[in-house]
Amino acid sequence: MSGLHARYSPSSAHRIIDCPASLQACDGVADDAGYEAVEGTVAHWLHEEWLLTGKRPTQFLGKRPWSFIPHNELTSQEWQLLRHEIGTERDLFVDEGMLNYVEESVLWCREVPGDHFIEKRVNISPWCPIPDQFGTADHFACQPGKLVITDFKYGRGVQVYAERNYQAILYALGVINEYDWEYDFDEVVIRIAQPRLGHFDVWETTKAELLQIGEFIKERFAIAHGENPPFGPTEQACKFCRVSYKCKALADKVLDYFDFEEDASRDDVKLEAEFLTLERAVEIFKMRGLFKLWIGAVEADIATRLSRDPDSVPGLKLVAGRSVRYWPNPDKVRDDLALYIDEDKLYKPREMISPAQAEKLLSKGDRPIVSVLADKKPGKPTIVDADDPRPKWEGDNAAVASSHFDDESDD
Ligand code: SF4
Repeated sequence: MSGLHARYSPSSAHRIIDCPASLQACDGVADDAGYEAVEGTVAHWLHEEWLLTGKRPTQFLGKRPWSFIPHNELTSQEWQLLRHEIGTERDLFVDEGMLNYVEESVLWCREVPGDHFIEKRVNISPWCPIPDQFGTADHFACQPGKLVITDFKYGRGVQVYAERNYQAILYALGVINEYDWEYDFDEVVIRIAQPRLGHFDVWETTKAELLQIGEFIKERFAIAHGENPPFGPTEQACKFCRVSYKCKALADKVLDYFDFEEDASRDDVKLEAEFLTLERAVEIFKMRGLFKLWIGAVEADIATRLSRDPDSVPGLKLVAGRSVRYWPNPDKVRDDLALYIDEDKLYKPREMISPAQAEKLLSKGDRPIVSVLADKKPGKPTIVDADDPRPKWEGDNAAVASSHFDDESDD
């Protein structure tokens, strides 16, 4: 694992390609990666260790990452994040569940024939407008004529696909750049291992196609390097952008959808001009991802400012939110309440863990037992794009109405 990051890092490629302006816009803005990012760093470190040693790294079980990840393998920012997250938010330590998920990717990598390369730094400078740009590929295997790249994703918030995955393509290009003389690649297989979603995606392509995509990447990277590069707000780009909370291009894109002026000019339908048409409502609905992302980024920025200085944001303040009652001293509660309530009624019945929790505790080999034992209730009705492959809802229409209400029960 490398503690250094290139300016054109493969992990930022999709953002820079969609929105070339974001490269310069993010200059000097600290990365505010949260718990999930730190958790991913730890899982990658275990992944590397396991592939290198060939042994399940059980020696780290129950340990907190700062006690075993070498200091020089992380940037000072990553190191600070690791310490900060552990100190102030959710605790983070290695457990069987994490090792089980890491194992799935490790086994998938190991089954590929050829020469294996683990956490190997590859040079991507030929596709970048400045020298010394590189990426670190989690794993790749080379055999004459064929390259198989595997990118391990520990997160589960966003499902990642292999096809035209710019991050993995840049790793592949870096490998081609360095090893093509030796293996004379023709076929290239790009794979995403995302075990926490049970998602193992494969894209079979060719060196020729990747080199073509490489030209497109090179063009977009050059635009990002030039003067006044264009903004290109998209969900995928803005989600991981460090300036999303203050970006006017993103705000404009979202707010343009709420502009009624276009409808107001329709003097043929006076009443409709005052209300959203169904077409406009559908357009706005389809923007919900970008909208939520934007509001979330603005909210996070305001909260950070207020937490640093309570008077820094005119018209807003931080307060304690709704809090939930709890028993600070369960033994005393049991003794005192037992005077009024039968003791056997004071405790909830033992509750079984969920199928997902069971999967986390089981090894890959034992995990199929969950599919045998578990059943699924029909999912709640959900609105998706018309071209979504799932069949149309044919369930109870009463569920459609009730699905709009949150559970507001007390405590
Ligand atoms: S928030 Fe989106 S549009 Fe704005 S700079 Fe970042 S990626 Fe580009």
